[in-house]
Amino acid sequence: MSKINAEWHLANKMPKNPTEKQRIDWHLAHAAHCSCREIPAGVLELMKKYGMPASKKSSVIKEKTGTNILPHIAAPALRALNSIGVDKLSDLKRHTEKELLTLHGMGPKALNTLKAAMKEAGVNFQAK
Ligand SMILES: [Zn+2]
Repeated sequence: MSKINAEWHLANKMPKNPTEKQRIDWHLAHAAHCSCREIPAGVLELMKKYGMPASKKSSVIKEKTGTNILPHIAAPALRALNSIGVDKLSDLKRHTEKELLTLHGMGPKALNTLKAAMKEAGVNFQAK
């Protein structure tokens, strides 16, 4: 199953007669924002040619998408976060650890998982 990010596609059209570099850039950006199709083999070859890590899950992609998503936590904890407007890791900057613990559904286990993900992503709670 593939999901198309139509908004992104509208805002980011592949240039006409793109250069090899433009094709790579477009597909890297595309992979970070949309999953309607994978990076084609031909583009992966081009990336290799330019000495880029030619992997569908390249570190570049992870940098853009992987570090800001909420980790897998229990559904009630996730709902608790959503209820205060948190749907990505960086949103936690606007809140304190104490505040999260007072939320209904948020337990110490989910909080620890969150904190580990935040550490990895370099996100800190709001200073008191
Ligand atoms: Zn797409």
